[in-house]
Amino acid sequence: MRKIIFLIALMLIFISTTNGATIRVLLADNLESVELISPSGMKLLEGGTYMPLVQQNANLTIKPVLGSISYYFSDVTVNNVSSPVTFAPLTEGVKAGSFPLITVNITPVKKYNVYRGEMEIHINASGKLMLVNKIDLEEYLYSVLAAEMGSGQPLEALKSQAVAARSYAAARLGRYVRQKFDVYDTVMSQVYNGYLYEKDTTIRAVKETGGEILHDNKGGIVDAMFFSTCGGFTETSANGAHYLISVNDCGQTRPKTETEWHTFYTTKHEGNCHLPNTGFVANFRWVKSFTFAEIDNTFKQKDKTGKVKEITVVKREPGGRISSLKVVGELGEVVITGELNVRNAFGGLKSAGFSLKKDDKGFTFYGGGYGHGLGMCQVGAIGQAKKGRAYKDILSFYYQGSVLASLK
Ligand SMILES: [Zn+2]
Repeated sequence: MRKIIFLIALMLIFISTTNGATIRVLLADNLESVELISPSGMKLLEGGTYMPLVQQNANLTIKPVLGSISYYFSDVTVNNVSSPVTFAPLTEGVKAGSFPLITVNITPVKKYNVYRGEMEIHINASGKLMLVNKIDLEEYLYSVLAAEMGSGQPLEALKSQAVAARSYAAARLGRYVRQKFDVYDTVMSQVYNGYLYEKDTTIRAVKETGGEILHDNKGGIVDAMFFSTCGGFTETSANGAHYLISVNDCGQTRPKTETEWHTFYTTKHEGNCHLPNTGFVANFRWVKSFTFAEIDNTFKQKDKTGKVKEITVVKREPGGRISSLKVVGELGEVVITGELNVRNAFGGLKSAGFSLKKDDKGFTFYGGGYGHGLGMCQVGAIGQAKKGRAYKDILSFYYQGSVLASLK
């Protein structure tokens, strides 16, 4: 068996082919072992120099050993290196039409996921492995778009998502030096599933907006948050950012009283994010009923209130989301503050935009929208694209006062 190994015979310095910004994406942490395979072979970055390491399709197993990183193929321990270490696919001699890729196997977390870019491995504070994918920001977006919006959406909507996701990522580049990565690959940041989820449409949307981000009115990068469905109005952020203010996505008069909000949430009117005959329509308006027994089982702070008797809105934000809600029970009352806390208090409501009615059986929540409500309404962007609006107009609508700029 010609096992692998043109080990470290030559020391060659390869020039990186990446020109643009690079992002570090956390793929997994606290690992006992990582297996890497590349169809093009791999090289190791140590001390600023790349050294060829393994041939095509050879498996490399990496484990933590007493605070350093051990890597080996076949059953022979080859080397121990200090943390961090970077493994990269060999870019030389790759067949035309294919990419240098690395397959990652972390059974059962990410079994045989395939990634562009390089793999940076650190020893974490617990002495285990942390795996970070260092990838060109543009290539990262190819996959993010598919996960965050879906590859089958209109091109102008995908382009809006490309610019929003690029700005969101760019706003985080280098911000968290101590944690050694820029973003998570989950909804904690933006969902990123690697190369296998890229589609022609998402690649096209990224390329047609290449390097474009949003700037605020002081020239800073817009923290371009986005969410699924606003249900009528996006929300105003408590952080005071001028580009995260409530916009009217439905053309209806903005309700002022609780009675008007109840009418609003129980009416299916027009709206950019109201797309009948699509799977999104169930998020534009929704109804969730709880019997008294169910609400007692669901309510997170029942130990403080006892059996729930009344639920009342204390404060509603400009876009309708409830930021303060009072729950009165047999034993006492609690006030829940914050949009996410309000949603989570009742088992994870789709949004904090709702009105409530009590009858002799229990409580019914009449809601609108899905998600936190800040920034771009993704289904609204899809609706606007279907009406023929261009991505620049969609972005300037959802991020008020922002301007397109180029990522340096
Ligand atoms: Zn909307």
